[in-house]
Amino acid sequence: MQRERTFSVKNLIGGEWVGGNGREEPVYDPATGEVIAKTPLSTKNDVAAAVERAKAAFPGWAATPVTERARVMFRFKNLLEENFEELRDLVTLENGKDKKDAGGEVRRGIEVVEFACGMPTLMMGESVRDVARGVDNVSHRYPLGVVAAITPFNFPCMVPLWTIPVAVACGNTYILKPSERTPLSSQRLGELLGEAGLPDGVFNIVNGGREVVDSILEHPGIEAVSFVGSQPVAEHVYRNGAANGKRVQALAGAKNSMIVLPDAVLDQAVPNIISSAYGNAGERCLAGSVLVAVGEAGDKIVAEVKRQAENLKVGPGGEEGSELTPVIRDEHREKVRSYIDSGESEGAEVVLDGRTPPMDAGFFMGPTLLDGVTGEMKVAREEIFGPVLSVVRVDTLKEAVEFTNGSSFGNACSIFTENGAAVRYWRENIEAGMLGVNVGVAAPMAFFPFNGVKNSFYGDLHATGKDGVRFFTENKVEITRYFSKF
Ligand code: NAD
Repeated sequence: MQRERTFSVKNLIGGEWVGGNGREEPVYDPATGEVIAKTPLSTKNDVAAAVERAKAAFPGWAATPVTERARVMFRFKNLLEENFEELRDLVTLENGKDKKDAGGEVRRGIEVVEFACGMPTLMMGESVRDVARGVDNVSHRYPLGVVAAITPFNFPCMVPLWTIPVAVACGNTYILKPSERTPLSSQRLGELLGEAGLPDGVFNIVNGGREVVDSILEHPGIEAVSFVGSQPVAEHVYRNGAANGKRVQALAGAKNSMIVLPDAVLDQAVPNIISSAYGNAGERCLAGSVLVAVGEAGDKIVAEVKRQAENLKVGPGGEEGSELTPVIRDEHREKVRSYIDSGESEGAEVVLDGRTPPMDAGFFMGPTLLDGVTGEMKVAREEIFGPVLSVVRVDTLKEAVEFTNGSSFGNACSIFTENGAAVRYWRENIEAGMLGVNVGVAAPMAFFPFNGVKNSFYGDLHATGKDGVRFFTENKVEITRYFSKF
């Protein structure tokens, strides 16, 4: 089993796996608290070396026909399928989430590779003939050059796969800076890309933390940066990347409401709500972290959520039947605890209290349910990123929408109802970019954009879908006429 292995984490530069300079950060198994690897904390020089190799690989890769680039993606897809269980178990090991969630994230990542296999169609330009007598106008798509991605800990396989297949199949060369807390899945993806036949230098990994990020933002040889992570860092990346003339997409934090109307089908809605709030220990940017109960839905739903939440099986992600898995680090558990303290001191009722660790080893917490939360409380507005669900009670759907729109974030929102008119009112008025109707985690498929708005996203073109292709390419628009007559 993966757990018995310790891992050596290396950078991948120009097709070679190279060790760091001795500065490292421990990687923990969140289920046991044991150190399983060490992430090299790379420097500006490592970024410069990766850019040099990626730059050297660019002309050859960009000139490789799109059909051949797509074939590398077909081989990569097959290798991901063959190694599916290993990748799933690596995610569980380094992130802590359960096997079902880990398998779900690998599957979602593979779907982006499948999307990128269609790159010959996705990269098509447009044309209009005869815009004037004998004059045609066409556009062609080109890759940008060297691009970089910076990814978070909570989806160590899926988030890198949001951009690797699209950027690379478009003809760019690519540098990945994975989360220093979860570097193992990225390393395996690098090995599989090599096996799929990707030429050396097209895909590179530079491990590390802030110094690597800032070096990426400052390096003049990098054309575009895709970032996924917390709001303050997303804003930092967007501002500094743009100031240095780069194209930037920065996907940020979230505070997602789940609005429950009195006519909701409760026996279906509640398991969705539980899974959205407590699945992956609440460490999802699409986690429903605020339950907005409308009218008489309140008492019934809080009672049922409490009953099901207190019966969640707390345990390691690798163990069959575990429903509430550990958070990523002990410091993060402390932060989540301090949010629960603040909710309590601001007047919320602690219906379920997960602050006491249910077991000694690892970074586990119990489920927390806070009732009577109001819009002024920190727990209603800030991203907690832990297994904590706050309940806000309102009288009408209009108030539920107003409460939700009071958030600075706009990632996702779900509504639970059978009433189509209510859904329409909500869709037209809600300020969120990913909407779920009787779906607790409103994750778009790979061919749509991952569509946060407000402070959940900085930039113009989102990750995945056609937005992703546009982000990683630029157009040449050509107008043509010939003087010879036939
Ligand atoms: P994080 O912001 O701490 O880290 C993300 C990346 O930024 C990492 O690679 C990290 O090394 C780097 N980084 C961290 N601090 C930095 C700093 N001060 N300067 C420069 N770089 C820095 O995020 P995380 O804790 O790894 O991930 C969780 C966050 O990501 C949550 O806020 C979650 O909502 C968000 N997220 C958003 C989406 C989305 O699609 N909107 C998806 C997944 C996660």
